[in-house]
Amino acid sequence: MAALFPINRSLTGPGVVETLERISAVVPLQVTEVPSGTELLDWTVPDEWSLQGAHIADADGNHLIDVADHTLHVVSYSEPVAATLTRAELEVHLHSLPDRPDLIPYRTSYYSRTWGFCLTQHQREALGDGPFDVLIDSTLAPGTFRYGEAVIPGTDTEDPTEVIVSTHTCHPSMANDNCTGLVAVMAIGGHLLRHPPRRTHRLLFLPGTLGAIAWLAQNPDARERVHAGLVIGGLGDTDPLTFKASRRGDTVVDRVAHAVLPRRDASFRPLSFSPYGYDERQFCSPGFDLAVGRLSRGQHGEYPEYHTSGDDLAFVDADRVAEGISAALEILRGIDDNETLDNLSPYGEPQLGRRGLYSSTGGAIDSRSVEMAYLWVLSGSDGETDLVTIAERADLPIDAVVEAARRLSDAGLTAPRARGGH
Ligand code: ZN
Repeated sequence: MAALFPINRSLTGPGVVETLERISAVVPLQVTEVPSGTELLDWTVPDEWSLQGAHIADADGNHLIDVADHTLHVVSYSEPVAATLTRAELEVHLHSLPDRPDLIPYRTSYYSRTWGFCLTQHQREALGDGPFDVLIDSTLAPGTFRYGEAVIPGTDTEDPTEVIVSTHTCHPSMANDNCTGLVAVMAIGGHLLRHPPRRTHRLLFLPGTLGAIAWLAQNPDARERVHAGLVIGGLGDTDPLTFKASRRGDTVVDRVAHAVLPRRDASFRPLSFSPYGYDERQFCSPGFDLAVGRLSRGQHGEYPEYHTSGDDLAFVDADRVAEGISAALEILRGIDDNETLDNLSPYGEPQLGRRGLYSSTGGAIDSRSVEMAYLWVLSGSDGETDLVTIAERADLPIDAVVEAARRLSDAGLTAPRARGGH
């Protein structure tokens, strides 16, 4: 996070390139490049923006505000300006937060041409009467829009479906939103590379909104191919783990998250779908309607540091990010391990002791849970009920149910009907 934090990211430009390069050193990325002007669903790729420098100086040349001090000082996508302005002329281009006078706000103007500076209310009040020399040394010209994806092939080469994990790459120097999302998906990628999943996992590093629109436009088979997915961001603040359901609300990611998260965090916060937030808005749009939920903590606008300079590295806590990563991995594992079984000995209970199943207990899972998990899996193996539903009914960890199912299958007592659930 400390390495990614200072980079001046935006929708496009060198900050995105540098960020994708740094991510690629951990999780190798394929970078897709889309030229400015390209139509993507209902959107058009704007010009590429890069910023060489920007300041507001007084008549003596002293820099009163300088983007070198904080990337948030310039409105992202500001067009170039070099002018001497009165205070009144400058005033309409200034953004501050009177109710939070020590924080610099984050502002963008991707789709309408303008320029502006963001500063603390205290800085604004101390600017003086002018005149001011204002410089924004930026380039806004036809170029390239980029996003990165890492494909981690599944061990089950027969299964064409995928799980997606997505985070947004467009925010400049803010830690919770969204350096935590970047490092979380990087860590998930590193883990999956070391422990290959059954189903192919695709990690998406997308500039917000347009990145998801671009990926969906270029993957028109997403509705059939994406089994489930998670959008991840904002994992480092003090709020409890929060899961926002997919639009359908009862898909496999929703059911797994609701089986996993309350066991990890007693104050877990479930949210139903709303058409606002991160890129779940795009993945869950009715034309695609993917089984994609969102894992985060604090929500947009609910904490005073949101989209300001107060969202710095001191605002986030590494242990809370790590807990979020661990929770995400447990959800992804639950999705990957889920299946529907047939009980091959459904007439009365099979005799487990004779098959050594009661004696093979031990390890991380206590033996009572394992015995109960055997009975619940056998009872639920009716060819229709999946392991996540069995775990919920049994009030057992998914891992315990999956392990019991594996041992029952090894003992010849169950056979898979269908992978995955819906
Ligand atoms: Zn944001």
